[in-house]
This record gives sequence, structure tokens and C-alpha cells, in this order.
Amino acid sequence: MSLSEQDRRIIENAIRDIPDFPKPGIVFKDITTLLNDKEAFGILMNHLHVRYGGHALDYVAGIDARGFIFGAALAQMLGIGFVPIRKKGKLPYTTVSEKYALEYGVDEVEIHIDAFGGKNGARVLLIDDLIATGGTAVAAANLIEKIGAECVEACFILGLEALGGIEKLTEVTPVYAVIGVD
Ligand code: AMP
Repeated sequence: MSLSEQDRRIIENAIRDIPDFPKPGIVFKDITTLLNDKEAFGILMNHLHVRYGGHALDYVAGIDARGFIFGAALAQMLGIGFVPIRKKGKLPYTTVSEKYALEYGVDEVEIHIDAFGGKNGARVLLIDDLIATGGTAVAAANLIEKIGAECVEACFILGLEALGGIEKLTEVTPVYAVIGVD
């Protein structure tokens, strides 16, 4: 089900722009104001629930850290389990990891080796608050596949379209951004 223009605007208006955070030239999309707004948060989560209710998903996997908030809420609404994909060194059990390039240097994300219950071919939705260059999400989607599951789609509340991340991730998995930003 597509989002009405009015609902789209309610969600977009609930997200706060913070110029020059964490460094000059970056406009940080602050979703704490969206989480704080029960109407906007409710509209968003209902939309995701309706959209993904028919996807026969087994799990929702969220990216550290804001993907945990939307992902865990959605997994509960769908009646399925939630899996965290974390920055290196945070998960306590045996992990599988994937490196990705940053503007300067590399970063790494990890998943528990048994995150999808050892079920081969588990159907997984990947979720995060925002896709920019797509580096984090491509690494996360690769991790899901690496441990034998299927990344059915990757979902973002915001897609920064000018940065090319959506195109890059589309080569790996279908992508849905609730709100596209130029
Ligand atoms: P990327 O790997 O470049 O797609 O970056 C995506 C990750 O960085 C996500 O986990 C986002 O939460 C965060 N991020 C990147 N750019 C922004 C931004 N302008 N505002 C808020 N979060 C951002």
C-alpha cells in the first residue's frame, strides 16, 4: 500500500534537520523528533506493517543503532523475530563480519552466526533509518546472505537520493525508501 501525500508529509515534517552535524557540510536527519511524535511514528509503523504483512518474512534485521528502533517495533507488529546487525566488537557470541569502505578508512559490521535460527533460506527484511552512500547497508545485506538467509528487501525511512547508495544497494537487494530526499 502506498503512503498518502498527507501522511508522507506528516512523517517528513516530524524529522528534524540539524545542519553541520557531526561535521561542517553534513545535514543530519534527526529521527528522535519522529519517535517523539506519536501520530507520525504511528503512521509510519502502520504503513510498514501493511507493506510487509504480505511478504512472508521470517525476521527483521536492523542496523546499529537507529535501525534497532524501527526494526524491533516492526518485528513485533509482524509477529516475527528481530536480529541486530552491530558495529564490530559489540555482539557477544560467535559472529560473521563484513568490512566496508568509509570516506576515510574502513568500518565493519557483524551478525551472530546463528541469528536466523540456523534456518537456511530464512526470509529477512533489512531496515535502517537512512541510506546515504549505501556502504553500511550493502555490507549488512551481504552479511544476511553470508549466513544462509535471503535479504528480501532493504527498507529505509529516508533515502538520500543524490548519494547513489540506493542504486548501489539495488544491485544486491530490492530497496524501499519511505521518503526520498534530493
Ligand atoms: P551510508 O553507509 O553512507 O549509507 O550511511 C548510512 C548510515 O549512516 C545510517 O546508519 C545512518 O543512520 C547514518 N547517516 C548517514 N548520513 C546521515 C545523515 N545525513 N543523517 C543521519 N544519519 C546519517
